[in-house]
Amino acid sequence: MRLTVLGCSGSGPGPGSPASGYLVEAGDTRFTMDLGNGTFGALQRHLDPWDLDGVLFSHLHPDHCADFTALVVHRRYHPSPPFDPASRRLPVFAPAEAPDRFACAYAPSAAERATTDLTDTFAFEALTDGASATLGDVALSSALVDHLCEAYALRVEHGGRSLVYSGDTGPCASLVTLAQGADVLLCEATWPHTGPWWDEPPPGVHLSGQQAGKHAAAAGVGRLLLTHVPAWFDGKDLLAEAKQEFDGPVELVEPDATYEI
Ligand SMILES: [Zn+2]
Ligand SMILES: [Zn+2]
Repeated sequence: MRLTVLGCSGSGPGPGSPASGYLVEAGDTRFTMDLGNGTFGALQRHLDPWDLDGVLFSHLHPDHCADFTALVVHRRYHPSPPFDPASRRLPVFAPAEAPDRFACAYAPSAAERATTDLTDTFAFEALTDGASATLGDVALSSALVDHLCEAYALRVEHGGRSLVYSGDTGPCASLVTLAQGADVLLCEATWPHTGPWWDEPPPGVHLSGQQAGKHAAAAGVGRLLLTHVPAWFDGKDLLAEAKQEFDGPVELVEPDATYEI
């Protein structure tokens, strides 16, 4: 499998990166995990969007899904589509509220929202806790994690290799369980563990670098990739925290970089 970072800036786009989004290529199957602000542009540097076999969303905060609106326009109004998009609707694995959420993001008025149904070109499948599914050559599974809204960590497996993406989450056992023994954990690290803001980071929102390292160690993953560092923090600090807790290889991901899983 191959993971390409479309964007990794936490909580919104930063000066050097779009918000969260990743391209995964596994055998003949290609899909994205999240499409935050700016990622649809980055995607086109790496793949013709018509070659996507599906899109996955960990949750529906804008920094993880805002560019779905660009995908709608591409799918509906491209002047020379290689096939009829209505006859090959793109699978969308996302929290159950995705159709309403994306209709609201796409349609500019209440009148248009009332008639916006994106199922003309997309086939929505609701993620649930503990669910598993197949997308082409890839086995998918999802686990509910601890965030401000319905949010999932995602596990993808292909050819005996496994990648787990945390999405956004505070510390939680379900992430450790889903990531057990994974070759790679792509894990959010959004803030430093200590600072002038708190004695302990607030629960149920995000992970510190230290907490990301602890989750990787508890899950026994092979490699830890840190992501979702906002522009207002220095990723090197969070990387140093994670290295204190996890003995395996750890690195901060970079936009447009590709990682073999
Ligand atoms: Zn986020
Ligand atoms: Zn979020």
